[in-house]
Amino acid sequence: MKLGIEVIGNTVDTLQSISQMISSTAELEDVSALKKKLGEMSSLVLAAHGKAVAAQVEVMKMMLENFDLHAQLMQVDRWEGVAARYRLKDFGGQTFAYELKPEYAVSEPAHTICPHCFENQRKSLLQFLYETATLQRVFKCGGCSQEITLGLQSVSRPDSSNSYTPEFY
Ligand SMILES: [Zn+2]
Repeated sequence: MKLGIEVIGNTVDTLQSISQMISSTAELEDVSALKKKLGEMSSLVLAAHGKAVAAQVEVMKMMLENFDLHAQLMQVDRWEGVAARYRLKDFGGQTFAYELKPEYAVSEPAHTICPHCFENQRKSLLQFLYETATLQRVFKCGGCSQEITLGLQSVSRPDSSNSYTPEFY
């Protein structure tokens, strides 16, 4: 920003010098002196043009940075709006996922989203896969593809295909 202001200031100074030179040239009647002044003015015009181009590049760069910052700000605002609709829930046994707050479960069905994706500001639904023998529920994240097990481990159900095996003797 400071550089851009300096470049613009230098360009204005150069243009002012050219303007003064043009005024003094009007009084010159000697052709060689006139040619010399024209040469000096030409150099100053080229220098001013270079500075103006540099200032234009600087302004364009600042506009792009401003655009990027604005886009990032909008993304943060949008994510905060999404994140505010969810709460971290302990499903038991220190297994966690984000679930839609009940007050928002009217316009859309209750669901859970991936805690890993949430940390990366992404809303990724957890899709139920299966229930384990210890009655935990396994979900798959549609975003990062991780399998997430939720719920407290319970005593396993007797498997009907095998003979009964007592857990303790
Ligand atoms: Zn995920």
